[in-house]
Amino acid sequence: MPSSPTSSGPDVSSSPGWRDGAAAVAMLTFAVDGETPVLAAGRRYAEHAMAMSHQAYDLRRGLPRLLALLAEFDLRATFFVPGLTAERWPDAVSAIVERGHEVAHHSYSHRPSTELTPAEERVEFERGLEALTALGIQPTGYRSPMWAATWRSAELAVQHGLGYDTSLMDDDRPYVVDTPSGPLVELPPHWSLDDWEQYAYLPEPQLGNVIEPPEKALSLWLAELDGMREYGGLFQLTAHSFLSGRPGRARALRQLLEAIADRGDVTFMTGSELRTAVLADPGIERRTHEPVKADPAVYPNW
Ligand code: ZN
Repeated sequence: MPSSPTSSGPDVSSSPGWRDGAAAVAMLTFAVDGETPVLAAGRRYAEHAMAMSHQAYDLRRGLPRLLALLAEFDLRATFFVPGLTAERWPDAVSAIVERGHEVAHHSYSHRPSTELTPAEERVEFERGLEALTALGIQPTGYRSPMWAATWRSAELAVQHGLGYDTSLMDDDRPYVVDTPSGPLVELPPHWSLDDWEQYAYLPEPQLGNVIEPPEKALSLWLAELDGMREYGGLFQLTAHSFLSGRPGRARALRQLLEAIADRGDVTFMTGSELRTAVLADPGIERRTHEPVKADPAVYPNW
């Protein structure tokens, strides 16, 4: 049986230490995927100039625009970068660090770990780490591409010296996973706070088929923000620079940042800052992963 949560319902009054007294913590995360999600759908798409240029927008225009937006608010964010993107766009990726932001591990090729063998997942992990290290970046956190973590992924992160993960969705506040190789802080994300579900449209390969108005995305994210303030959670925005870096969407993101600041009871933290706060909180929940076993007699379909 999964371990039960230590508390449920509104508990803002208990003000756990990881929130540093705030009603909620906002963690701004940006995936700088570049060409990798398209190539992960098939290497033939390297020949598709529109698809490749659609992804190059990420580094050429979207990322600089979002870095400027964060500078307007003097905010630091956490950027997840696949190793291949770091190799192809070293200057753009180095600019993230130069602006004072955190760069974290996001695989090498952006192929989902659930589609890889254990040996392939390890190679992906190590190659991605090497590509960031080559730019002088020492990541402390990891996010599985497409959030497609396996039950091996957490321990793999610990074995390579990383301290937090943002891939699993069984909570809306942080906790510690005790793996056989040591502890890992989990900072749970959710699809509702991901701009991919609002903005991703690419017919070939089919990465998504929605182009929602930024007002809708903003409305959804503000509802989650205020819910997290009431229940004392982690508001982890996941934006992609090729999506939210487009002009109308960047304006909506500015409105979101203004709204978070105006609430007056939300603290911004990066992934590594949250990890430190979580580990310093004696009341934080600790769990172990308990992989689900599916009986073939009950579920004959693989
Ligand atoms: Zn990604």
